[in-house]
Amino acid sequence: MSDSEETPRTRKPLGLKRSVDAGEVKQTFSHGRTNKVVVEVKRRRILGKPGEAAAPAPEPTPAPAPAPVAAPKPAPKRAPAPAAETPQERVARLQREAEEDRLRTAEEARRREEEEKARAIEGEKRRAVENRKAEEAPEAPAPAEPEAAGPVAEVTAEVEEGGATPAPAARRFTPVARPEPKRPPEKKREEKKPGRGTENRGATDRDDHRRRGGKLSVKTAFNEDEGARARSLAALKRAREKERRAHFAGQNQPREKQVRDVVVPEAITVQELANRMAEKGADLVKALFNLGMMVTVNQTIDQDTAELLVEEFGHNIKRVSESDVDIDTSVDVDADESLQPRPPVVTIMGHVDHGKTSLLDALRGTDVVKGEAGGITQHIGAYQIKTKGGDLVTFLDTPGHEAFSEMRARGANVTDIVVLVVAADDGIMPQTVEAINHTKAAGVPMIVALTKADKPEANPQRIRERLLEHEVVVEEMSGEVQDVEVSAKTGKGLDELIEKILLQAELLELKANPDREAEATVIEAQLDKGRGPVATVLVTRGTLKRGDVFVVGTESGRVRALVDDKGKQVKEAGPSVPVEVLGLGGVPMAGDQLTVVENEARAREVAAYRQEKATEKRTALAPTNFDTMFTSLQSDVVEFPLVVKADVQGSVEAIVTALHNLSNDDIKVRVLHAGVGAITESDVTLAAASGAPIIGFNVRPNPKARELVARNKTRMMYYDVIYHLTEEIGREMAGVLGPLKIENVMGRAEVKQVFPAGKRDKAAGLLVTEGAIRKGLFARLTREDVIVSATTIQSLRRFKDDVDEVRAGLECGVVLADTNDIKPGDMLEVFEVEERERTL
Ligand code: GDP
Ligand code: MG
Repeated sequence: MSDSEETPRTRKPLGLKRSVDAGEVKQTFSHGRTNKVVVEVKRRRILGKPGEAAAPAPEPTPAPAPAPVAAPKPAPKRAPAPAAETPQERVARLQREAEEDRLRTAEEARRREEEEKARAIEGEKRRAVENRKAEEAPEAPAPAEPEAAGPVAEVTAEVEEGGATPAPAARRFTPVARPEPKRPPEKKREEKKPGRGTENRGATDRDDHRRRGGKLSVKTAFNEDEGARARSLAALKRAREKERRAHFAGQNQPREKQVRDVVVPEAITVQELANRMAEKGADLVKALFNLGMMVTVNQTIDQDTAELLVEEFGHNIKRVSESDVDIDTSVDVDADESLQPRPPVVTIMGHVDHGKTSLLDALRGTDVVKGEAGGITQHIGAYQIKTKGGDLVTFLDTPGHEAFSEMRARGANVTDIVVLVVAADDGIMPQTVEAINHTKAAGVPMIVALTKADKPEANPQRIRERLLEHEVVVEEMSGEVQDVEVSAKTGKGLDELIEKILLQAELLELKANPDREAEATVIEAQLDKGRGPVATVLVTRGTLKRGDVFVVGTESGRVRALVDDKGKQVKEAGPSVPVEVLGLGGVPMAGDQLTVVENEARAREVAAYRQEKATEKRTALAPTNFDTMFTSLQSDVVEFPLVVKADVQGSVEAIVTALHNLSNDDIKVRVLHAGVGAITESDVTLAAASGAPIIGFNVRPNPKARELVARNKTRMMYYDVIYHLTEEIGREMAGVLGPLKIENVMGRAEVKQVFPAGKRDKAAGLLVTEGAIRKGLFARLTREDVIVSATTIQSLRRFKDDVDEVRAGLECGVVLADTNDIKPGDMLEVFEVEERERTL
């Protein structure tokens, strides 16, 4: 078979006839080439037959006729081929064989197609190629066509058939192929391997080589490569396409669709929001403008507006509330087993000059530690003493009960026990009562210290009795409140006082967890020339250590150094220990909470958030709408402007509170500025601008400010006792208001008629309805209860006679000073003004 086949094939090359066929072939080819679809259609037809064809295929092989039947399409092409008989037959046979193979392949392909569409497409392509090949095979003579179609077909054959079936076909082909294009040779090669004779193989190989060597072989090679390439290229293309798509998608998504979860607090600046959205601030401003809001990047917007923006930019808003950003220490409760006893924190309160400072100093003198160290007394708002028994007691040196309440109002309830100081030689004074009330309001237990007990005129018993009036029942009066007679001078009763403090502390079972991040309360804070912002804090729980990162009020910082009440640097401070903290970002306020946080970022975040909040509060206080502006303009409350400077924050707050307490309906203290530290140029400028005096509490102007003070003739008021300050300012304010004016209504009258008087004036004919009208009295003219004018009675006549007074029931004529707006029916009220000395 193979020989016979080979022969015809060899003849095929003779088929220069092909060139004759070529015309037709070319057309077909051109068809094939141009329209793959056409080829595919053919394939389909073939596919339709496979089932039937499988059996009949062998039979038709010999007859040329079946060929056309088998492949209806090829038929027309073959039509020209039949010209050469033997070759035609052979070709037909070959075709059939090839077709059988093809059909098998097709079947398999079909299955695959059914299974995988993608694969099916490839299969189709291959089949198409095969078909072409098949068509071309007979036409093989035409070099161009076979080249194109052949290789692919071969490849497919190899891949798909793989088995023995293809081998024979290949062999058969081989001979034909030799003269013909390369595709058969290839088949042979590969098929032969599994198949038979090495010689043949060798020959075929050689042939192949030759072919390869010739145009054909080159083409084959090319085709092979092409086939490979076609696939790999397609694969590559697909891969690239995928990549591109993925890439583009990737690019597009970040631009358009990268959705971020934007954390938005209750208020946020436009810039900060832009940062969190990874957008440009200017874009946000534009968007806001489009929403009808004119804002700059530095302005703060609320959560709802922020949400609009976030959505506009296609992101997701994640609303957070205060508690999410700010630190809520109240939710963080220490377990009972972690709690350990802590020293009590004691505040001493009482009327001025009753001996608070003296008592504190005396108590401090009992400090065994201090005795050992012999250290210098440090002005620090709190200190701790170690008693002879080894117990610790912390004393707060607050400037008064106002500060105590101020701190309490800010949630800083650090005091465990109040020692109420009452001078035994004096009595219950206003500030004593206030101290009692503040203590009661705080629900803090009290110990009464009856000071100056050494004085001969001291009468502690009288004080005890007087205290009853204020519902303070001391032990001596069979009450619950401990009391003790003490003398700062002689030291009498000091130990007893400490004992009682410790006893009270025991009852309170004061405990705190020392093994955690510290929390502390600012007792006072100031800007120190050399050390920067310094805060005296009282640790409430945990242990504050050097290097700790913290947030305090609206400031953040890192503990650079801790200084105790003896001026000694310490490494850490536990519960109830007062220490000075260095390393703050700014001066906090008394009562601010210091909280140690995990890192600086967190500290900054919280501080920034609180600052934002503080700013909001300030702006909220400013007149924001016309209503409030109008009222503030309208109100005739006299303002008494002041600038307050003091040595420590606690004093500043106490002074400001005390001053505000002086305000009443007529006059209001307006603190233009209050701060800690020396009086500066800026203070003087501010005061001068408003004609305000400057209050210096334990502070003086610096040299530059002094010059300005002299130049501006700014009034300086220096104090070291708040009580004196408030007294004097109170007098000042009363002076500003002048004496108190009291109206005494003398009479009322009704306007009956109006007539001209003199050249311009109008006179009113009145009926006095109440009291009397006298010349020179103040008068108010009202029309339907609305004041038309406030004036005086310029002249008063009765029957053309000037009179001094007209009594009720009588008629008279008046001329009002500075007004002619009088109408019948108006009412006139006359009154005199009594001046009394004013007290605030
Ligand atoms: P504060 O205003 O409450 O701080 O009172 P001070 O501690 O400044 O005392 C006012 C005045 O009372 C000072 O002159 C003290 O010397 C005097 N003083 C305070 N405590 C005692 C005391 O126990 N005995 C006597 N004899 N004088 C005292
Ligand atoms: Mg004092």
